[in-house]
Amino acid sequence: MSNARQKAIEAIANTEYDLNQIDFRATSLKDLYGSLVFSEEVQKARLPKPVFKALQKTIKQGVNLDSTIADAVASAMKDWALEHGATHYTHLFQPMTGLTAEKHDSFLSPTGSGLAIAEFSGKELVKGEPDASSFPSGGIRATFEARGYTGWDPTSPAYIRETPNGTTLVIPTVFVSWTGESLDKKTPLLKSMEVVSTHALRIVRLFGNTEARKVFSSVGPEQEYFLIDKNFLYSRPDLLNCGRTVFGAKPPKGQELEDQYFGTIPERVIACMADCEAELFKLGVPVKTRHNEVAPSQYEIAPIYEDSNLATDHNHLTMDVIRRTSEKYGLVALMHEKPFAGINGSGKHNNWSLATDLGENLLNPGDTPHENMQFLVFCVATIRAVAKYPELLRVSVASAGNDHRLGANEAPPAIISIFLGDQLQDVIDQLERSDLKSTKQGGFMEVGVSVLPKLPRDAGDRNRTSPFAFTGNKFEFRAVGSSFSIGGPNVVLNTIVAESLDFIATQLEVATKGGKPLNKAIADLLPGILHESKKVIFNGDGYSEEWHKEAEKRGLPNLKSTTDALPILIRRDTVELFGKYKVFTERELQSRYAIFSEKYVKEVTIESNLMVSIARTMILPAALRYQAEVATAVNATKAAGVDAAAQLEALRELTDVTTKFQAATAALEKVAHHHVDGEPYAHAKYMKESVIPKMVELRTFGDKLETIVADDLWPLSTYREMLFIK
Ligand code: ADP
Ligand code: MG
Repeated sequence: MSNARQKAIEAIANTEYDLNQIDFRATSLKDLYGSLVFSEEVQKARLPKPVFKALQKTIKQGVNLDSTIADAVASAMKDWALEHGATHYTHLFQPMTGLTAEKHDSFLSPTGSGLAIAEFSGKELVKGEPDASSFPSGGIRATFEARGYTGWDPTSPAYIRETPNGTTLVIPTVFVSWTGESLDKKTPLLKSMEVVSTHALRIVRLFGNTEARKVFSSVGPEQEYFLIDKNFLYSRPDLLNCGRTVFGAKPPKGQELEDQYFGTIPERVIACMADCEAELFKLGVPVKTRHNEVAPSQYEIAPIYEDSNLATDHNHLTMDVIRRTSEKYGLVALMHEKPFAGINGSGKHNNWSLATDLGENLLNPGDTPHENMQFLVFCVATIRAVAKYPELLRVSVASAGNDHRLGANEAPPAIISIFLGDQLQDVIDQLERSDLKSTKQGGFMEVGVSVLPKLPRDAGDRNRTSPFAFTGNKFEFRAVGSSFSIGGPNVVLNTIVAESLDFIATQLEVATKGGKPLNKAIADLLPGILHESKKVIFNGDGYSEEWHKEAEKRGLPNLKSTTDALPILIRRDTVELFGKYKVFTERELQSRYAIFSEKYVKEVTIESNLMVSIARTMILPAALRYQAEVATAVNATKAAGVDAAAQLEALRELTDVTTKFQAATAALEKVAHHHVDGEPYAHAKYMKESVIPKMVELRTFGDKLETIVADDLWPLSTYREMLFIK
């Protein structure tokens, strides 16, 4: 007797993997880095000088693109791509699925004589028209008016994708409807970047900076993920189809020994990571950090920060490369927010700051932040933004998957608050009292061993429980889910901070025009803002009961689930904010509200269907087979004249749980098949309130059965196997 689960373990035990598919001793990092990117260097070497200059001006200073240069760029890009073996090109876009999408066209086109030659003009570079009727549009586009256009984003460089049989030139693009509305995640991000730049520039100008031409929002996303052996998928339809286990008993050993975090990385995993890094280096993704995460078989990869558009594109590439490369090592990457119940889930820490095109980080406090007025203005603007729009940040990270994480004492709570740390809190307090005098210094640590060099101490400790923490020279938004596009959260961050900077700049401009010295104007303005915003600042333990009570007292919103959060998207103040800064129209917000609601419904529907099918076709048969075995054993024991009371008890327990399991299966099936009328949101609410509780109930009985049914009959790979067989 051998089921898919047992075959999986056998296969793992008997397979050897080639762990030397990439060897950094033989391949230098420097040669790899950016080798597949149509980078600044390549552009410089291949483009006519004026074209190169115009393109760089657009990329670095945000100057409107001169469309007459498109032909020259397209031609150079094509030659470069053909030299790299490209046969096709594709416009890569980021539709509302949260993933990327692409349609490939070959470089060949017919000529009059019937021959085919390589062709790629500026027109083809700039605009594409995929038949896009099947992408979620939330009502913006009906299938009969399906025109959707992709448009070249010159600020994110084209690159070569290598596949087993050749290569493809990939051109990052936006995706908009015939009516000009955004159908993607990139367009609003680019708009939000422009707005935050405009208003940040007004502030730096007040400080006498006349040279900066653009302010970029910089982002470094830390990506968490699981890697488990691919063979396990064959016995786990849930992992295969929804990326999360809908059944699975708590393993005897989970993460309680805390022996995984920063532990030695397993051989097969480090080989896979190195291979991913090599691929990412080629694509110009500046990956920097790798380590084991808290949960068994959980890992993290983090890049060096880039502007938020590039960081978003590169995060998509990172997820894609990890998914594809792990297969070469017989592994599968799980990016779901909660693949395993009771084990830490995966998030994405979105480190965010603002920097001028000349490289000045505007959230760098320096050694004496109490004297750094420009930093204080940007810092207070961010605090004000988060205090004013906490619900927008919350809704930007809302999804069925992330609902399993937020507030589950492993990820920040659904209550949005800011952690400043000792040093900055002290300065901010002084500022609020209009008494800026000093900055606490970290000094050195007393380790108590004389042979060690002195260790400088950071001026503030860390806090892992805060959703929005100041970490030295940036803010870290920690509530983003691991499978998310970081586009959405950064659109919100950029826009709400832009609104604050706009507000502050306007006040300061008026005051200084009226003759007030800038420092005086700032000193008059910031304390009042802080006074109004400080309720969002919390430096304590975000996981604690007390904080939940305290937050309620402070009037901070606690939107516990996606269905609580989604209506924020279409609230009047949201529509006004995004409308004012031209990031989203009301129709675009309505469409996103519909899309996210539908997505929630679809995800929960798939999960509940999977539960019913696994319950009926895998777990119940195992339970019944075991029941028959035990019943036979009881009868045989009795027939032999031996007391079988204890065995009968085991049979009773088994029968009892199986009966409840069957009833719970039927109950879930019933609610899941109920047809809900009305808007997608009404449907989502129904799933949350009526279907999910039945899923939770069914799971308890299924997981109970796992602990009493004979192990050799159990069909689903278990947590102890999936998380520990490496
Ligand atoms: P930790 O896990 O200790 O928070 P990591 O080194 O894993 O830190 O990740 C920190 C991330 O923050 C990196 O991606 C880094 O590039 C990014 N980061 C650093 N400075 C900035 C900045 N000014 N703006 C945006 N991101 C930044
Ligand atoms: Mg990290």
